[in-house]
Amino acid sequence: MRYVSTRGEAPGLAFDEVLLAGLAPDGGLYVPEAWPRFSRSDIRALRGLGYAELATRVMAPYLGGAVGGDDIAAMAAESYAGFGHPAVAPLKQLAADHWLMELFHGPTLSFKDYALQLVGRLFDHVLRRRGRRMTIVGATSGDTGSAAIEACRDRAAMDVFILHPEGRVSEVQRRQMTTVAAANVHNIAITGTFDDCQDLVKGLFADTGFRARYGLGAVNSINWARIMAQIAYYFAAAVALGAPDRRFTFAVPTGNFGNVFAAYAARRMGLGIDRLVIGSNTNDILTRVITEGRMETRPVTPTLSPSMDIQISSNFERLLFDLYGRDGRRLARAMARFRRDGGLGLGDARWRRLTRLFAGHRLDDGQTTAAIGRLYAETGELLDPHSIIGVEAGAACRGAGTGPLVSVATAHPAKFPEAVEAATGVRPALPDRLADLWERDEHCHVLGNDLAALKDHIAGQLAGGAAA
Ligand SMILES: *Cc1c(COP(=O)(O)O)cnc(C)c1O
Repeated sequence: MRYVSTRGEAPGLAFDEVLLAGLAPDGGLYVPEAWPRFSRSDIRALRGLGYAELATRVMAPYLGGAVGGDDIAAMAAESYAGFGHPAVAPLKQLAADHWLMELFHGPTLSFKDYALQLVGRLFDHVLRRRGRRMTIVGATSGDTGSAAIEACRDRAAMDVFILHPEGRVSEVQRRQMTTVAAANVHNIAITGTFDDCQDLVKGLFADTGFRARYGLGAVNSINWARIMAQIAYYFAAAVALGAPDRRFTFAVPTGNFGNVFAAYAARRMGLGIDRLVIGSNTNDILTRVITEGRMETRPVTPTLSPSMDIQISSNFERLLFDLYGRDGRRLARAMARFRRDGGLGLGDARWRRLTRLFAGHRLDDGQTTAAIGRLYAETGELLDPHSIIGVEAGAACRGAGTGPLVSVATAHPAKFPEAVEAATGVRPALPDRLADLWERDEHCHVLGNDLAALKDHIAGQLAGGAAA
């Protein structure tokens, strides 16, 4: 299995190279050169497997020998062993033929753990085999930072530095990052905004000398390995509900288009998916692409579902690559126009192909709160403001689909207790394994919005670690 860039210029790479590279040098994203196919009997053979074993089989064709079969099996087993539910991605029935797939049983209570727990181990495995070290740096406004820290903690070949805007992440989110006591985990609170944090990270990567010296890397959502790991839970849900003998609709609350793209990949692999429903908050660029055939950015509005407050969904480029007939140079020209004009029309033929599979639905904050309250009254289920958008979008757009609707719950309600309490009057409790979050010691350095100071800090921390 080789990987090619969506912009058509970068040379093809093997899985382990794509893992470490992240973004392609031509500015594109890596995608498999061809989609692997599972036959009906391959899919039937997944029935009854535990989650880690099923995930291992789904991921195997993407590794192409770059990571050994026993190694990936061991990493998957270890990744999901610590999850808070034996089914790992359990299904709960909400209504006749409407199911909720709960993806919040990992260490930091969002679906990002399902990929990052594995990706952290993959990085460590590949780096150690090459005798290399890497310094992961990232900026977070919430969920990604804690999931990345949990993925990298105590891994021998990696250090991780996560920047968050001081005083601008929720207390649960901050404590999930700062209470991790591991020598290779470094939290930095920047006196500034999330955009300042992102600019600082970009500044670090732009300094090629610094970047090479400390082996800077990222585990952001454009990394192919994250998508690959997420494909597994779509197979798991469908097989549990009768695949390959039934067809499915999945509804996914969407920001960067990574999660729902994994569902698209599952379909390309042969899973019977009739429809993919995208749930948006007020930042509804994706819903507008689907309903209007035109991709157009607008300023980001803060909402109750901050992890979806995005106006450029980077992973959408992977779908565009297929819509543009896998012609990377043509897509590169279209993306250049999009960047220049802030808008891009898909053209009628591509738009029709998009809407044959995808539907989109948008909820503003008022509708989100009302829907959380309504679901609680009807079923007793407490959902967070991201997950409810998937559930509502799925119910609104399932259309005349024949098979079950599966809505994806992306965060535990206790990650967003204020919004859930405002909607239902009930304050969701943290799971027992996190109940002492409020008592744990915090580890964090506060720095100004100053690139030179940040570089000094990172250099100092890494020198200290090496000496210890
Ligand atoms: C990251 C995140 C999303 C958005 O997922 P994408 O893969 O970026 O579309 C949705 N909900 C929650 C809770 C998240 O953390």
